[in-house]
Amino acid sequence: MVDIKSMTLGELENYIVDLGEKKFRAGQIYDWMHVKLAESFDDMTNLSKDLRQKLSENASLYTMETERVQTSKEDGTQKFLFKTWDGEFVESVKMVYKHGISVCISSQIGCRMGCSFCASTVGGLIRNLTAGEMLEQIYRIQAYCKERVKNVVVMGMGEPLDNYDSLVRFLRLVSDEKGLGISGRNITVSTCGLVERMKQFADEGFTATLALSLHASNQATREALMPVAKSYHIDEVLGACRYYFEKTGRRVTFEYSLADGVNDSDENARQLHELIGDGICHINLIPINPVREGKYRESKKARVIAFKNKLEKYGINVTIRREMGRDIDAACGQLRKRIKDERKG
Ligand code: SAH
Repeated sequence: MVDIKSMTLGELENYIVDLGEKKFRAGQIYDWMHVKLAESFDDMTNLSKDLRQKLSENASLYTMETERVQTSKEDGTQKFLFKTWDGEFVESVKMVYKHGISVCISSQIGCRMGCSFCASTVGGLIRNLTAGEMLEQIYRIQAYCKERVKNVVVMGMGEPLDNYDSLVRFLRLVSDEKGLGISGRNITVSTCGLVERMKQFADEGFTATLALSLHASNQATREALMPVAKSYHIDEVLGACRYYFEKTGRRVTFEYSLADGVNDSDENARQLHELIGDGICHINLIPINPVREGKYRESKKARVIAFKNKLEKYGINVTIRREMGRDIDAACGQLRKRIKDERKG
């Protein structure tokens, strides 16, 4: 079936004309998909019955079913588990901030990057999500909450730059004025550090914020935490971040998950400063969220604060990320994994 939700308006126009219909019908269908968030062709009431029939025979909206919604009692964060057409599960998270709703979406089912602290990667990569399936997560959440989504972070399951073409297509569609029109400035893409792709992404001309999962202050520790570090030296990855900044003018955010006794000492903070220098950047600290099979423990609260203070003394811009939704398996891949384990018996 043709995946029309992943098409640009121009592509959809060509497709509709090929079906023997008038070009303007494409605009109507695009609006139904990307603004009115239609769940089926039958919802598209200003199209003729005949056209709706033709569409349902040739194309699919690949709408996802909402399998489960878990709401955090602590902070209202909601975790959504969606079921795809082929019976796979996709996780997304809705967070409510002062400045509006932020949605964290997945870019792949599973992941092949193998980070040792992350639940998404257990079981490897199942498949890439299409651009339409990335949009669909936002659409279903917006329809469920009846409130406009303001920010999007591509920080759920998967490595977005490992699904590059769909990511770029997704960003074009989600920022399109004729769709949700979420500007690049309100979008963050997080990567474990695929250097060539980071550079290519810098050249695309988006204004999205790039977040790098750094997690270590030296090459050896990074290799121990993240297998991808063996392919790209930490200096090379930071070079790609600088390139991104030079090309886009957007500062890069560094994600740094703190694991007890692994990367959270004062010496680590000193090394980190040495590594990133006084450049324009921002560090997000997050105590590691111990996943069931994980071997790491989260850093003690006092250590997290001491680490932050140390970085601030060096003049580095740093925040401790609010740990949202810890009571609802909000860390990447946790919920999907639990559901799959449960169903296995
Ligand atoms: N593949 C991308 C995006 C997905 S993960 C990336 O690597 O950036 C989003 C962020 O959560 C990454 O910084 C990732 O390293 C981090 N993360 C994953 N599992 C975690 C856990 N159990 N505790 C803390 N951070 C975790």
